[in-house]
Order: sequence, then C-alpha cells, then structure tokens
Amino acid sequence: METPAPLIDPFARAIDYLRVSVTDRCDFRCVYCMSENMTFLPKKELLTLEELDRMCSTFIRLGVKKLRITGGEPLVRKGIMTFFESMTRHLDSGALRELTLTTNGSQLARFADQLYAAGVRRVNISLDTLDEKKFADITRWGRLPQVLNGIDAAQKAGLRVKINAVALKGFNEEELFTIQDWCASRDMDLTWIEVMPMGDLGNEDRLDQYWSLKDLRARLAERYTLTDLAERSGGPARYVKVEETGQKIGFITPLTHNFCESCNRVRLTCTGELYMCLGQEDMADLRAPLRASPDNAVLEEAIRAAIAQKPKGHDFDYSRQTVDGQMTRHMSHTGG
Ligand code: SAM
Ligand code: SF4
Repeated sequence: METPAPLIDPFARAIDYLRVSVTDRCDFRCVYCMSENMTFLPKKELLTLEELDRMCSTFIRLGVKKLRITGGEPLVRKGIMTFFESMTRHLDSGALRELTLTTNGSQLARFADQLYAAGVRRVNISLDTLDEKKFADITRWGRLPQVLNGIDAAQKAGLRVKINAVALKGFNEEELFTIQDWCASRDMDLTWIEVMPMGDLGNEDRLDQYWSLKDLRARLAERYTLTDLAERSGGPARYVKVEETGQKIGFITPLTHNFCESCNRVRLTCTGELYMCLGQEDMADLRAPLRASPDNAVLEEAIRAAIAQKPKGHDFDYSRQTVDGQMTRHMSHTGG
C-alpha cells in the first residue's frame, strides 16, 4: 500500500503524537479535575474498543508515532487490555514508536505485567502528595497505599515510571523536597504541572490553588543547582538537571505561551472528538465519518480536514488575576 502524506498543520508542524482518552470515568474525583457528582456519558456514545483500534490505526497509518492512552482513568475501562494488546502489532511492525499511558496508578497492581507484555515501557503516574490524609482529600476517593502498590508493581514489571504532580499552593508546597527525594530514591523522573483552568470554577477556585512553577523552581534553586536542559518533547514540558543528584525534573507550564510553536500533538476523546488544541474549544467529530463507512478513506479525509484547522496556540492567561481563556470542559474529557 502506498505511504500516505504525513499530517502537517497550517503552521508547518508535523503531527505525530496522538493522545487518546478511552473513558471519561474514573475511580478518583481529584478536586482540580472533576466535581464530586459527575454525570458520565452513556455507553452508546463511546467508541467501542474495535472503533478505538480503527481510529488509532488510521492515525498511525497517517504518521502518528506515539500513542498515549489516558482518560478519565484509562485502566478502569472494561476490556482495555484487549485494546493495548491490539496496538502491539503496530509496535512490532515499527509503524508505532511508543505506546504509553497516563494513569492514577490505582489499577497498576493488576495490569502492570500485561501492559509490559503489550509493549508499554513507560508510564506516567499522577501523584500530588505522599501524605495519606492529604491524598484522600485531594483525590476524594483515592487511597495512597493502593497507588504505592501500583507503583511497586509497575517498577517490578520493568516499566519506567514518571511521576506527575500538580503544584498546588498551600497543599503540597512543603512536600517539594520530600517528593523529589522520594522520586530520586526510586529512580523515577518527576514532572510538576501548573494547575490549569479547566472544569467548573464555581466549586473550586483554581486561582487560589495556582502555584506558579517559576516560584516552585526558585524554591528548588535555594537548595540545588539547576541546569536547564535543551531537551524538549514537542510538548509543554521543560527540563532541568539537578546537579547534586543527577535527577531530571520537568516543568509543565501551560500558562506561558512558550511551547505552542513546537506542538506535535492532537487529542481524541472517548466519543471520537478530535481536539486540535488543549486550550481551545474547536474540535472535529471523527465518530460520524468513522461510522459512516467501513472504508477508512472517509475517516482519513476527516482527519486531514481537522489537522488543517489546528490553531496556532491556546489563550490561557492568569496574568490579569482573573482566569482568561478558561475551558468549560473538564480535564478528564481530553485526558490532559
Ligand atoms: N486519570 C489519569 C491520571 O490522573 O493520571 C489520567 C487522566 S488525568 C485527567 C491526566 C493528568 O491531568 C493528571 O496528571 C492530572 O493531575 C492532570 N490534571 C487534571 N486536572 C488538571 C488541572 N485542572 N490542571 C492541571 N492538571 C490537571
Ligand atoms: Fe481521575 Fe485522573 Fe482526573 Fe484524578 S486527574 S479525577 S485520577 S482522571
């Protein structure tokens, strides 16, 4: 079969990274992500596992090299291991370079070995605190020991673990060094994330929780020598090396417009909506073209048309002490 032209957006960015939210459901209710009483999508709205396979396989045919599975909590979707296992063929053929996931870790004790067997080599695990009580508070429904068991299982299975922690003012400020030391002691990478204005601000005031990574970094620099690394992943993370420990720390600062120009990714929701930018409302429905015909040509055309609409960047801005560019959808919708 002839090789199709790669996906290039109007700003000459090659799109080779697809993030797929496979469910909007979750076994946690993190305060910055979901409200306590969420209404989830009816099952018939979701892409089936077979449809997810077809969708991802089409993106891979069009040049996607990296697939990140997220959610909601991806590992609570029934039968999701079948999907991971079906993606193994693209790793085996060399078409796909990396299959990975972002998880809250709660189900890893059960699935880590199977993920490794399917070809997953790295996982991002979200964890904002090492204090049991605080963990229960921030996740509402989560329990820390279960996640720590999951992390143990992941490392035992041979998965490389990166911890993602949301920086929250007055919440995990004093754990800055504890979390970093803990990651170093377990040979895990660490990335700090700025809290983003997603979801309904009515319940939780995101601005109060906002702890700028500029401040966080300055606090780290009081104790350690930090060297900027040139390394970029095409995404919003910047990395520093901690000279004293050799550790690599990432900072995800979506609120400064400093990464859009190298953006290589798009996001697919569990209902088949393609978001071309995390910070914009524009999306394209890919479920209709997928279901319209068993022939992937219709879907491919819809994907190309969507990529042609990828905006230049997002409009998040806290600088005026109000939340501009706020998104009404929850992070669990697009998976972060
Ligand atoms: N359930 C999985 C997890 O928690 O890792 C995957 C989905 S979760 C939506 C993906 C990431 O988004 C997590 O690291 C979470 O901390 C982050 N996140 C959720 N809401 C956020 C917000 N308002 N601002 C910044 N990060 C957020
Ligand atoms: Fe669930 Fe992840 Fe959102 Fe927490 S951040 S509620 S674990 S989807």
